[in-house]
Amino acid sequence: MAASAPCYLGWDFSTQQLKVIAIDEQLRVIYEDNVQFDKDLLEFGTHCGVHVQSDKRTVTSPVLMWIKALDMILEKMKSSGFDFSRVRALSGAGQQHGSVYWKEGASQILKNLSPDLPLHQLLKACFSVSDSPVWMDSSTTTQCLSLEKAVGGAQDLANITGSRACERFTGNQIAKIYSQNPEAYAQTERISVVSSFAASLFLGAYAPIDYCDASLAGMKLEEGDIAISLGTSDTLFLWIQEPTPALEGHIFCNPVDSQAYMALLCFKNGSLMRERIRDDCASGSWDEFSKALKCTVIGNNGNIGFYFEVIEITPEAVGIHRFNRDNKKVPDFPKEVEIRALIEGQFMAKRIHAEKLGYKIMPRTRILATGGASHNKEILQVLSDVFSAPVYTIDTANSACLGCAYRAIHGLVAGTSVSLVDVVKLAPEPRLVVIPNAGADQVYQPLLKRYADLEQKVLCTPVSSHLPK
Ligand code: ADP
Repeated sequence: MAASAPCYLGWDFSTQQLKVIAIDEQLRVIYEDNVQFDKDLLEFGTHCGVHVQSDKRTVTSPVLMWIKALDMILEKMKSSGFDFSRVRALSGAGQQHGSVYWKEGASQILKNLSPDLPLHQLLKACFSVSDSPVWMDSSTTTQCLSLEKAVGGAQDLANITGSRACERFTGNQIAKIYSQNPEAYAQTERISVVSSFAASLFLGAYAPIDYCDASLAGMKLEEGDIAISLGTSDTLFLWIQEPTPALEGHIFCNPVDSQAYMALLCFKNGSLMRERIRDDCASGSWDEFSKALKCTVIGNNGNIGFYFEVIEITPEAVGIHRFNRDNKKVPDFPKEVEIRALIEGQFMAKRIHAEKLGYKIMPRTRILATGGASHNKEILQVLSDVFSAPVYTIDTANSACLGCAYRAIHGLVAGTSVSLVDVVKLAPEPRLVVIPNAGADQVYQPLLKRYADLEQKVLCTPVSSHLPK
């Protein structure tokens, strides 16, 4: 490759590390690196990139740690011989919700940065709050309750913004600083989220807040598609045309198509719950677990289970609840039935809550699965049967970073008729793993209805009913 061949950078300022990817014009990854906060920046003493304060609810990261990580990764690139003159554009993502508080006068310092000193030294006096609240923070219950009350309730807030009040959300975090730390608030000239803060470091000026989400772009989602991450917790990304905001889940603008929306649903009881049932019913073996899925019938003869070891987000419920085909609560299931009830239940919940948000399965719908459990074909078969759609897998190593690098290219051609979909045409296609079994949809239609009805029985008292009137 010629030394001057253009390249594009994608950055990810995530919770535990800073990552960078460089791609060439054929979208081939030509450079990849990362800085791990706990390991490479020991002086900040973080655990998994954060500090959990003594109340256990306040969770922060030192803003200067993020800047020092950038200094460090740029040094690493330089010493490896990376030719920065080839970079035509860059784009980045940051962990959601985290906020950065720039002190009065910081914009002047940002504009006049000297190349002779590292950024973390030049910017050390630029922040009115040195410990930035991050997405793991849950210390703003008071602010959430008063926000919901101010607009008439949780559902009203969801109708306006796409989500009910959540403690980690930036607005509630800002409201907390405003009321609990008025001095710092008064000294603040600008508030950034982590992604716009990172963009500001490169711009030497405050970057506006962008409403994009790099994951979605990196995974090449298209209209009607679902991306599902089966990791520690399970997460669903949906492409939605006509959203109906609900108390569970969140609706966002769609970064790929300005006429559409994107929805996100989080399920806390994901892989750890599956591991527990694997240990109890399949001697701790995924092979045995998969065999149980293979030897049981679609629809589990009408047996339905809810498995929430920890209090679930979607829906707000806890405990293990089993119902037989006559909707009678039963104390246990045979082992194989238990395994299928868990997996069918997890995927029926996902479909029901996705549809509540306005999601519609279309004939061309594809499910793109990622995360640890997406290596299990039998689990993916149940997913395919419940959604009545083919399941594909994608190699998501660094998908957020890669999505950013694609957006960097797209940014350069912005204003032309080239869409992001056109830009990512060269990127690797998802791989088809399973298609739905014949007749599965007829079995699941009535079962989905029963699952939704039974779910009402196992719900906790909704938090919104505690709202002060
Ligand atoms: P993280 O959320 O930490 O990124 P991963 O996406 O790496 O998590 O997923 C890790 C989980 O994947 C493990 O907790 C494990 O339960 C699950 N897993 C790994 N292999 C399999 C398998 N063959 N079948 C089902 N689950 C699996």
